[in-house]
Amino acid sequence: PYDGPSREEVLALRQRYVNPGVLTYYREPLMIVEGAMQYLYDETGKRYLDAFAGIVTVSVGHCHPHVAAAVKEQAGTLQHATTIYLHPTLPRFAEKLASKMPTGPNGTPLDRTYFTNSGSEANELAVLMAREATGNQHVIGLRNGYHGGTPNTMGLTAHGTWKFPSNAPGGIAHTHPGYCYRCPYDLAYPSCEMKCAKDVANVIAYETPGQVACFIGEPIQGVGGAVLPPKEFFGIVYDAVRAAGGLCVADEVQGGFGRTGEHYWSHQHFGVQPDLVVMAKGIGNGAPLAAVTTTEATAATMTKRIHFNTYGGNPVSMASGLATLEVIDAEGIQENARVVGGRLKEGLLELRDKHDLIGDVRGLGLMLGVELVTDRVAKTPAKQEAADLMELAKERGLILGKGGLHGNTMRIKPPMCISKDDADFLLATVDECLGIIEEKARHGSSWKAGA
Ligand code: PMP
Repeated sequence: PYDGPSREEVLALRQRYVNPGVLTYYREPLMIVEGAMQYLYDETGKRYLDAFAGIVTVSVGHCHPHVAAAVKEQAGTLQHATTIYLHPTLPRFAEKLASKMPTGPNGTPLDRTYFTNSGSEANELAVLMAREATGNQHVIGLRNGYHGGTPNTMGLTAHGTWKFPSNAPGGIAHTHPGYCYRCPYDLAYPSCEMKCAKDVANVIAYETPGQVACFIGEPIQGVGGAVLPPKEFFGIVYDAVRAAGGLCVADEVQGGFGRTGEHYWSHQHFGVQPDLVVMAKGIGNGAPLAAVTTTEATAATMTKRIHFNTYGGNPVSMASGLATLEVIDAEGIQENARVVGGRLKEGLLELRDKHDLIGDVRGLGLMLGVELVTDRVAKTPAKQEAADLMELAKERGLILGKGGLHGNTMRIKPPMCISKDDADFLLATVDECLGIIEEKARHGSSWKAGA
């Protein structure tokens, strides 16, 4: 059992010494001291089903024994020497990633990897390589997207809530994300004829010199709330960007490594071939590890100058990544994401029929979103109700995520080892909590969950 400082002491220390920008979830922040596969434990020993996986990061399970053993073994042998020396883990892991990549444009292999420690850094490198490779400056992102917290990636992120006023880089434009539930044209698929995707040509014509460095998009938006555009979406966008001289970057930080169930990479759902693939989070089951993989020609731009990342490719992160990919293969993780994710989505759609608060259920595999609205016609974001659902679920041993510009989309993205019983528990808990919230709303009380 846990015998460290109390939750109150930890909270007080954080409030006194940690930058207040380091945010917490919940009205009473949760303290987590242990994890085992799909479960987390607080300091009292209470168990939670983790349907958010450390923000979609723990792919094969908290402290999965194979990954934990690999990390422990490597940490006890060599933690760090930097990439200025050879170590077998780095090229072996790069080889393994290359074997998992789909072929790039025109059959060109995507087999050259640069390792970093965070998705933001990897996206920065993707933008840098695209700019160097094309000689163009402009980068196009999607509204409602998230790409990181460094200057370019904060600029590419398209929720005002994440943008600091003083930190805006130039050369970035945004196009529509294919968010059908909130179609900017009030049209419906397929009679809309993909007007949103086609608008990228206007963005290029009006907001860039006509030539662009790249397009970067999450094939299924994570922070934005599991927004999954129609199948034709990325084909149309990629074609327009390539016609303007640009490369195409798939940000697979959340959607990769089998999470969408049907494919190893979420962009494969759309039948497109990116020039660069950015990975993080699930790649290392929680290790500070990210990567960008691209073609020989694009990767070669990095040799124009010296570029160095002290911790990028360190042996402990490499061991973690290699072991994680082995588990994904050995334990049928992608298939589990497909099967259990399918069951969850079906159950959530049934809950939509029962609860008016649920406006939209979307996503693929174990990357699901449930958008809550207080009025199904006006689609008014149910911000307070989403916060209440988080609290009530927590009390019942279920950790959910939330996202979207208004924080009104529940994000369900558990470790991919989740079982059917866990899925049923999740559905029953969400059902019960929504019932409580709706009941209280009917009685017009000033009730607050967790109060
Ligand atoms: N891309 C996507 C799609 C993400 O979800 C995130 C993190 N939420 C990032 C990039 C940035 O990753 P990091 O926080 O590791 O910098």
